[in-house]
This record gives sequence, C-alpha cells and structure tokens, in this order.
Amino acid sequence: MQRAREILQKTFGYEAFRFEQEAIIETLLAGGDALALMPTGGGKSLCYQVPALVLDGVGVVVSPLIALMQDQVAAMRQLGVRAAFLNSTLSFDERLETERALVEGRLDLLYVAPERLVNGNMLALLERSKIALFAIDEAHCVSQWGHDFRPEYKRLRLLHERFPAAPRIALTATADQRTREEIASELALQDARHFVSSFDRPNIRYTIREGGEREELWRFIDREHPNDAGIVYCLSRRKVEEVAAWLTRKGRTALPYHAGLPAAQRASSQQRFLREDGVIITATIAFGMGIDKPDVRFVAHQSLPKNIEAYYQETGRAGRDGLPADAFMSYGLQDVIMLRQMTDDGNGSDEYKRIMQHKLESLLGLCGAIGCRRQILLSYFGEELGEPCGNCDNCLNPPQTRDGRVDAQKALSCAYRSGQRFGVNHLIDILVGKETDRVVKFRHNKLSTFAIGKDLGRNEWRDIFRQLVAKGCLYADAEQYGALKLTDTARPYLKGELEFLLRKLEKRPLRKIRKERRPRSGKSEWGQLPASARPLAERLRQLRTRLASEQNVPPYVIFNDATLMEMAQARPQDNGAFLAISGVGDSKLKRYGEMFMQEIRDTPHFAQLDNNKLPDEVNNTLALHLQGLDAREVSSRLELPLSDIYEHFAMGIEAGLLDAGQSLRLEGEQQEEILAAFEDANVLESGQLQPAFEALGGRYDLGVLKCLLAELG
Ligand code: ADP
Ligand code: ZN
Repeated sequence: MQRAREILQKTFGYEAFRFEQEAIIETLLAGGDALALMPTGGGKSLCYQVPALVLDGVGVVVSPLIALMQDQVAAMRQLGVRAAFLNSTLSFDERLETERALVEGRLDLLYVAPERLVNGNMLALLERSKIALFAIDEAHCVSQWGHDFRPEYKRLRLLHERFPAAPRIALTATADQRTREEIASELALQDARHFVSSFDRPNIRYTIREGGEREELWRFIDREHPNDAGIVYCLSRRKVEEVAAWLTRKGRTALPYHAGLPAAQRASSQQRFLREDGVIITATIAFGMGIDKPDVRFVAHQSLPKNIEAYYQETGRAGRDGLPADAFMSYGLQDVIMLRQMTDDGNGSDEYKRIMQHKLESLLGLCGAIGCRRQILLSYFGEELGEPCGNCDNCLNPPQTRDGRVDAQKALSCAYRSGQRFGVNHLIDILVGKETDRVVKFRHNKLSTFAIGKDLGRNEWRDIFRQLVAKGCLYADAEQYGALKLTDTARPYLKGELEFLLRKLEKRPLRKIRKERRPRSGKSEWGQLPASARPLAERLRQLRTRLASEQNVPPYVIFNDATLMEMAQARPQDNGAFLAISGVGDSKLKRYGEMFMQEIRDTPHFAQLDNNKLPDEVNNTLALHLQGLDAREVSSRLELPLSDIYEHFAMGIEAGLLDAGQSLRLEGEQQEEILAAFEDANVLESGQLQPAFEALGGRYDLGVLKCLLAELG
C-alpha cells in the first residue's frame, strides 16, 4: 500500500485517496475481486490504474466506449504510464505493435473493447502475457434489464475461468441493488467485496422550474454559463435541431446530436465538444454515455426526463471534476401530459405498468416538491441525507406555498361541468371569464364556473392544471385532442376534502439567488477565483488549449480545471512548488513545468485587485484590462456597454489601480488637448464634463473624459 500511495502522489500528483479508493486498491493488491459502485466523477479509474502500476504485468481494462479509450490512453500517457488500446480504429500495423508490446511486457495498461477481449486470438495473447488485473468498466452493461445492455458483456465471465489468478474489479455508476446482484452473478464475482459509495454529487446544484419556455433556458445559460460547456437534453430530434439553431443565433457554439444524424456528423460534434472550450451539445438521450468530459458545467433539460434514474444519470454528466456545476430543468404542462399518456398507453404486463406508474409518480413528485431536491433524489436511491442540502433551488430559495384547495375545486369542477371534452386553454378561458367564440358557441359563459377564477392569472391556472395532472386527478385523452378528464383520484379534491398545497408562482428570480454566491465573469466557475488570479488563469488556459491542440488531446488531459485554478492562485515558480499543486506529478512537471512557470513569471500579480473594496463587477473589468484587453475588447467580452467599462475604469483610476494615460491609450498630445479643454471649461471646479465634451467636438468618448477627471480629482 506504501507503493500505491507513492504512485498516487508521484504519478498522479494527488495527495490522498478519496472515499473507497484505498480499500478497493487494498483488496486488489491482496489478490481479491472487487465490485465498485461509485457515482460519476467519484474517481473510479484510479481504483484500477494504481494497482495496475503496483502489480507486475499489464492491467487489462474492458471498456465499451471506443471514443473514450483513446482519451483515457492519452491521459495515461501524459502521466508517463505505458498505456495502449486495442479496438477497431487501429490500423493493422498499430495493432501488431500493441500486441507485441503486450506479450513483451512493455505495457502497464491495455484498454480493450469487450467483443475483442473474448475472441480466441486475444485470449491466446493474454495467456502469453503477464496479467496484473482485469477491470470491467461500465459493468452494468451486463444487465439484461438495463438501458445499456451489451450481450458481449455476458461472455466476460470466461475471464474468471481462463485467468483464475488475476484479480478482477467491476465498476459502475448504476446504483440499484438488482443491477449489483446481476453484475456479481453474471460476471462470476460472487466472492468479490462490494464497495458502495454515497451517490450524492454535492457539487451539482439542482434547479427545477415550471414553465418550459425557451427564454428561461437562455437566461439560465447566459447568466450562469456564458462561456461554459454544457448539454441540453430535448425530447425529440426536431427539438434538438431547433434548439441548437436557436442557441447558435444567440451567439453560442451549439451542436445537435441525435441518432438520426449521419455518423460522421455525430462523431465530429462529439469531438468538438471534447476538444474545444465552451461548446454546447443539444441532444436526445442518445448522447452521453460515451462522454467522459470532466468539465461539463451544466446539464439542462428542456422537458421532463423519462424517470428519476434517467434524470440522475443525465445530470450526473455535469461536474465530474468536482467543481461546481448546474442541473437545470424547465418543464411544462405538455410534458406532464405526454409522459402520463406514454405510461398509460404503454403496453406490457400489469406489473410492468405498475412499475412505470410508480417511476412517473416519483419523478413528478420530485418536480413538484417543496423541500430539498437532493434529499428526495437520494432517498429514491435508498440513501438518506440528514439535513437539507443547501445547494438546490428549494434550499436556496424556499418556495412559498398557499392552500389551493378551493382553486383545485374550481378547476376540477370546470372540467366536469363543461363535459370533460376540452383542453386546458379552453378551461382557463372559462375560469377567467373570457368570452371567446368557442366559449360562447358552447354556452360556457352560462356555466356556474364561468369567471369564477378571475382572481388568478392564466399562468397560475396552468400551474394548477399541471399539478392536477401530475397528481393524477386529471388525464389528457389523446383521442379527444387532449381533453382533460377526471379520474377517481379527483373525487376528494373535487369535494374539497383533501389539502392541495400550491407553490406560489411568484417569479422566482434566478439572478437574485445566484448573485450572492457567484460573481458573474467570463467563466462562471473561473469567476470564483480572486480577481487577482483571473488574468493568470486565463493565460494558463490559453497555454493549455494550445498544447492540447498541438497534441490533439482534450485540454483536461494536460491539466484539469481544478489544477489550473490552483496554479493561478499559488503561482508556483520552482519545481517543488509546482509539484505541490494537486494534479501535478513527476511526468507533468517534466513535460510542462517550465512552460507553465514561465507563463506565471511573465504575468504580473495583480494583488491590488483583491480586498480593494471595489464591486466585483469592476474588478472583473480591471482584471481583463490588466491582461491586455482595451476598453472595447472588455466591453465585448463581458457584453457590457462601453460606457459601463469606462465607468469601471474611472473607479479603478480613482482607487489608484490604473493610470488613465496608459489605460485609455492616449497619446501625449491627445491628453494635452483634453486637459486644455478641461481648463477652458473649468471642469475641475464645476465637475461638469459636458461643456468640455462639446468643446472637443465629440472626438473623445464621454467615458474617456470621466477617466481623466478621475485621475485629476
Ligand atoms: P469516474 O470514472 O468515477 O467518473 P474519474 O475516474 O474520471 O471518475 O475521476 C473523476 C476526477 O477525479 C478525475 O479528474 C480524477 O483525476 C479525479 N480524482 C480521482 N481520484 C482522485 C483523488 N484521490 N484525488 C484527487 N482527484 C482525484
Ligand atoms: Zn437541497
């Protein structure tokens, strides 16, 4: 274990093992088998990578995802580990070379696709090689009932028969007990020790909102993640393409991804998502499983996911690097109606239907919840979270509720009295007393429920109907164009016998919640760095991007975000200090130390940007400016009007952080001209800039004059 710790520190550059990593590694080093269940981002790969390096021979990793293998091997090679993969993308020569390296004992890690591993030639090769261990990644693929079933996985049990001495580890992020048992029995891992970690992802902030309008999604992306990579899940292919086009029009790089697109286009979108900074993928659920991108900063759902498992898996793709990330969902009445119909009309046995029904209720329960979302999510997976999490929308901004008993009665009775033949819009027309042609035609303005809901707005009624459908009191009849019909469940509500709590539909201000916790800046998470470190962080990031594209690897393979941010703050300038950064081991020091330290030496430290009492927004401007951007460039980067930027400059000048002449890039002559105009117009006495501005014939921006005045005053 001493050796394992050494490798963790020297090769990977990490201080300590996380959670169950140590116990898992101990088990494998002692020759035992292990079954590891960890959430995405929990650090599964280290559990087999470290022992493969400690033990003699090669660690064979079975992974179903070809796209992923390549990046994993690239990442290992960056650490100085002798890693390779065997899959269908290799040329004949490359394959031969890898096979030779394998039998000659020149490999530490070999990644293999499952179908290849179980073929006769491969097994023969392995028999001639020294095996340190077998790691079976994404082990839930062996589960017949799971959504990722791969028949080849079933054949992997032969590893146990052919290589009884080699320790084996199966890994998955799929939590439930049944899958776990299936893995153990299908892969002949009956004697394996089970390691089950908490499935909580504390760095993900869950937000679920009713509405489903696009603009709401845009406000979220624009405010919280103006430059970040993210995934937007949509229900249909058509929607995927629409949303991508719409985000592109808004100025983001957004690429559609669904099974109906040509394979080449999908591959290229995926590649750009991995390699470029700040790409958004809009996708049906076809996208995701093969994506091992640690710095996805948000996952948004533009409609309801299928169930809580799917929701958790999809949102789990955010923030694998452990840095703050968002899971944002916005859904509408139509979503609820559709999922209900799909569940009701689906075929299958009664038991199957009952399970589906239960899953749907759980999902709708989560969405309509008033309490902590994380508590509900974890309890669904059989885990208990003692305290509310403090990092979901309901914790951060507890919703107001009110008694909606009477409103529920009105809504149900309106559907009942109009004959259960109408959709939600017509019912709302009746409730709010709108005499549309249809209302008049059906004489619904004569109903006792006509105009009894005038006190509420249409949105509030929509919300009530949505909750009634979610509760199962109403269902939309697909054969009658979505006419809302009452169910037995509705009866006690119709009579007002049951409490009907409604979330108050005040506009819950997204911005207000966030502002306290996250200053807005170029990069939301980078924005949490102290302002003095941002210029350097930005330069280190550019250096990383350049190195990554030269080597054709994803940027995080060079250094991940956490490492880069730590570097920007600690500013290491010698080998010892550089090694002390988490994520820097011997190999990375050797490869990149000098380059990154040079960048650090070349970037002045703007300590004055911290604790200077200027608003954060101003410090953001100053930080960008100090990196070399002029006022116009800062303005377009931050999407703020130029006049704001000058305002910030003026504050910086007043605080003694900037020099007006330099910051405004004024020539000596220009400065003199302005100063002369100031004198003529008595600006210093009056404090009024307008006369000088006019005297100068508008040749200088008013903001420029403001900055000079700040310098003089
Ligand atoms: P998983 O496969 O479980 O989704 P990964 O193995 O990709 O997770 O690890 C997630 C991130 O956590 C990676 O960036 C990895 O380098 C980092 N990590 C793993 N173990 C440790 C550790 N002990 N200390 C610091 N970082 C770690
Ligand atoms: Zn919470």
